[in-house]
Amino acid sequence: MGIKHRQFLDALPPYQSGRTPAEVARARVLAGGDPSDSIVKLSSNESPYPPPAAVSEALVAACHSGNRYPDFNKVSMIEAIAKRYNVDPAQVTVGNGSVSLVRDLCLITSGPADEIVYGSPSFPAYDMAARVASAVGVPVALTDETYDLESMLKAVTPQTTLVFVCNPNNPTGTTVNERDLQAFIRSVPKDVLVVLDEAYHEYVTDSDVADGMTFVKEHDNVAVIRTFSKAYGLAGLRAGYAISSVEVADLIRKIETSYSVSALAQAAAVASLEPQVEAQSLARVAEIVAERDRVTAGLQALGVPLVRSQANFIYLPVGAQTTELAREFESRGVIIRPIGNAGLRVTVGLPEENDRFLSVAAEVLDAVGIS
Ligand code: PMP
Repeated sequence: MGIKHRQFLDALPPYQSGRTPAEVARARVLAGGDPSDSIVKLSSNESPYPPPAAVSEALVAACHSGNRYPDFNKVSMIEAIAKRYNVDPAQVTVGNGSVSLVRDLCLITSGPADEIVYGSPSFPAYDMAARVASAVGVPVALTDETYDLESMLKAVTPQTTLVFVCNPNNPTGTTVNERDLQAFIRSVPKDVLVVLDEAYHEYVTDSDVADGMTFVKEHDNVAVIRTFSKAYGLAGLRAGYAISSVEVADLIRKIETSYSVSALAQAAAVASLEPQVEAQSLARVAEIVAERDRVTAGLQALGVPLVRSQANFIYLPVGAQTTELAREFESRGVIIRPIGNAGLRVTVGLPEENDRFLSVAAEVLDAVGIS
């Protein structure tokens, strides 16, 4: 019989995170494979680089105060972010990863019968957070693997409370340009919050792509969320932030979980934004971007369908062969992410990891008759 609980949970599938090297190694050993074979993880869009040395030093220093609660108001972290983007600290909220801000944004705007619009396929947390808020998720199919802002506008109704635009989009790596986004934001009713999820913003090299911060400064109903998980190499620390109107930030602060950004995460975020330290992270981003171009060219040479990416991953829309291909890669020690039955998403890693991916890709694609 069990406990009384919210019925939507019975139909909610558990989140599928990327398989860890340890899980894959265990499965390989069980299948009779060699446990000493190395495994490359290219499935969670992490940075392959450890944090800069100054960040590790700040982390060690913060450990010594581990007996104390973190700063409840996250003052240093919020001030560092506000200074970095030249906004009022009252506009900045921080969370246990930007995924927690996705949930908070749904909870402050939406309840039963309210509609939350987002692209599909896109970051699965939007759909999940909409359900947690008891709201109605309204997925709008991508066109050419890209957010279709015209169709999204048509999906906005009087019940719509929130719209997510993932730019660049996870899992396809595509972007919407500044002009189209500007027109979209102007057309959405002013009482509907538009959230620009820019988790991969630092990897964008196309100058036509908007920097969401400019829209936050112009429109009270626009918020940007970003993260220290990708470009800054802090995925394990859990630190993300939103920049919004003061009104939206005040609402988030009312419901956010107390002390959910650890003292370590706060210290690491502050250290990461020191200009010389940030320059090191951004130099690594440039290396990943160069590798993104190299892997793209390597895949093109193999004749596999692919989408040009502005993020730290590349999407291969291989359709019905998705599951089989992911399994083939994994059995050869390369973990990549299957996205439903639509395609494969591969994170750009270190040059040697990418070499391994490309050589396995040549083998696997040949075996299934794609290349
Ligand atoms: N937004 C997008 C588009 C993402 O892909 C991710 C992570 N995969 C996040 C937000 C959340 O990142 P984090 O919680 O680590 O900040």
